[in-house]
Amino acid sequence: MATLVLLQKDLREFDNPALYNASRRQKPIIIVHVMEKRLGSASKWWLCESLRLFRQQLNESAITLLHLSDSADIQTMFEYLNDRIEIETIYSNGLDFELPDDMANIHESFMANLIFEPQDMTKEFKIFTPFWKFIRANCSPVKPLSNPEWNRKNHHVDIEFDEYNELPMMTGDTNWWNKMTPYWKIGEKAAQQRFKLFVKTKLSDYDYKRDFFCEDGTSKLSPHLRFGEISVRQMYDQLNIKKSNERYCAELGWREFAYHVYRNHPDLTKIPLNPKYRNFWPEFNDDHLKAWKTGNTGYPVIDAAMRNLWATGWMHNRLRMLVASFLVKNLLIPWQHGEEWFYDCLVDADPAVNPFSWQWVAGCGTDSVPYFRIFNPMLQGEKFDPQGIYVREWLPELVDFPTKRNIHQDMFKQPNLRPNNYPAPIIDFKSSRERTLSTFKAIVASKVINLKKPRLA
Ligand SMILES: Cc1cc2nc3c(=O)[nH]c(=O)nc-3n(C[C@H](O)[C@H](O)[C@H](O)COP(=O)(O)OP(=O)(O)OC[C@H]3O[C@@H](n4cnc5c(N)ncnc54)[C@H](O)[C@@H]3O)c2cc1C
Repeated sequence: MATLVLLQKDLREFDNPALYNASRRQKPIIIVHVMEKRLGSASKWWLCESLRLFRQQLNESAITLLHLSDSADIQTMFEYLNDRIEIETIYSNGLDFELPDDMANIHESFMANLIFEPQDMTKEFKIFTPFWKFIRANCSPVKPLSNPEWNRKNHHVDIEFDEYNELPMMTGDTNWWNKMTPYWKIGEKAAQQRFKLFVKTKLSDYDYKRDFFCEDGTSKLSPHLRFGEISVRQMYDQLNIKKSNERYCAELGWREFAYHVYRNHPDLTKIPLNPKYRNFWPEFNDDHLKAWKTGNTGYPVIDAAMRNLWATGWMHNRLRMLVASFLVKNLLIPWQHGEEWFYDCLVDADPAVNPFSWQWVAGCGTDSVPYFRIFNPMLQGEKFDPQGIYVREWLPELVDFPTKRNIHQDMFKQPNLRPNNYPAPIIDFKSSRERTLSTFKAIVASKVINLKKPRLA
């Protein structure tokens, strides 16, 4: 009689309710990681390494970790395991697919990915501030659990599982993901170290430095949170006791809010929350989309950010806002194209936070940026990268741009300053801004006509 633990976004031992409860049962344990339905390429790279390390970690306690590459095959896998060792109970921390009845009947699901239990939220909120106020005042943050206590004699399963033993591996062209390797340390131990170091060295300046993309002022914990290598409940529990950590806790709150919205609107990835935007999007220029993806728009901040994303799998929050605004509000390209590209390139690509944030920037989400707020990449660059350190780091074409000049502004005013090998702007900022303002103004003023299905007499 064994316990089966199904994991997806929760690759840690500390504060892992499914593992913690399984360990308390003192029965043999089999852990199976089930591939998520929506995974981008960069996050797949992260996952492969994270799983390899997690298996190593669990092996030290003689615990078995298997892998299922497609959740559609869950029943077959269950029968395979049941033939070898009878499964009595199944635990998980939530799954992105339905279990067949015979499994569902013995399944218990816990929550591990959020600070507050979603079912404690009795109403739907559309605006962040009242949501965050309400949840903090009326719900209790979930307290983190300790590590599971493994007991080799009771928990170890002495069976070879040839069928589901292989972990996923990256194949094909190694160039693109090898580039990301130097930037990251993956896994639970690395996540704990990063958190500790951030609290010790950067948290006190976070409020001030968090917007300066030329500085390393944020925690970069997002991919660890994405794969559950660190518990958000542990972070909140440790930080929420100090008033000065309010700003950082509020960022974790935005993550909670994105999940709140996603829970109420699971089609967030495709469908604008604001119905006025549902049937609108004009034809767009494919070359513009390509230039945006490859960092060749001729706008230094936009290009540096997009090349930074390609090379490292990560981008600073302010830059995410700028490049998203540029795509949607200057190039007038549907936000779904940006969402997809981000999802494929980000190591932290999150099924709730990514579409939520894209809708937020595009103005069609909830508590969104108003349509008339269009970020100016030249001014933003000047403000948050005043010496051009960031753009020079990612754009070799601009390395020799004279330091006494304003790298964000001057080549737009004096085109002869633009290096020959750096592209001319693909669009004029001022006129594209005006075009968008008039287009979006018309959308906002429009009436939504809800066509009802004709009823059969
Ligand atoms: C267009 C767009 C797409 C985005 N896509 C993602 C995504 O796929 N995955 C993702 O985790 N974040 C996404 N974000 C939110 C945010 O940019 C990242 O969470 C943040 O940059 C991660 O860096 P950090 O860990 O250093 O953040 P920190 O500033 O150190 O913040 C700590 C944690 O708080 C959470 N957080 C911070 N800012 C936000 C925010 N605005 N919304 C929700 N949670 C936040 C993250 O979990 C983050 O790790 C997106 C933002 C935009 C504008």
